[in-house]
Amino acid sequence: MKRAVYPGSFDPVTYGHLDVIRRASEVFDVLIVSVLNNKGKTPLFSAEERVKILKEATKDLPNVQVDCFSGLLIDYARENNIHVAVRGLRAITDFEYELQLAQTNSKLSGGRLDTMFLATNLEYAYLSSSSVKEIASFGGDISQCVPDFVADMIYERYGIEKSQKTV
Ligand code: ADP
Repeated sequence: MKRAVYPGSFDPVTYGHLDVIRRASEVFDVLIVSVLNNKGKTPLFSAEERVKILKEATKDLPNVQVDCFSGLLIDYARENNIHVAVRGLRAITDFEYELQLAQTNSKLSGGRLDTMFLATNLEYAYLSSSSVKEIASFGGDISQCVPDFVADMIYERYGIEKSQKTV
């Protein structure tokens, strides 16, 4: 059984993440999407909320599981007997950071955790969780960025009424 983990903040999950999840789920027998519970950041959604959102957004993908972790990815991967991490690459700006992360994880795990990159679908290359939050916080249209139920949750979090949205 080929298993992989797709780790990330997913605060919130976007169509870009969902595209990577769908494509990676076609490559591996089991894909575990794991929410990083980073105590150093103040997220819009708690780790539990992000897990719930991801479960709903991936419910049509039977080999995708959703989990959450804190601490080092290499420890989580070792405990779950996973040897591949999936990451998405949007542009050259992601590359330097992602390459360093991949090499660090490889080194720290003694070569037991490899990273597989999936190039972003061009349609979603511009998308980031932070820009989605910024647009939503001003009542802008995020319907092209996240599933409808996620958009509703984001607007609600920012206290934006449906009538205030600039759609
Ligand atoms: P992190 O805080 O770990 O970067 P993110 O939730 O922002 O977490 O992203 C998780 C992974 O998804 C990263 O590999 C990131 O490059 C990738 N990613 C983010 N946005 C997109 C997108 N629009 N298309 C494809 N991959 C993306």
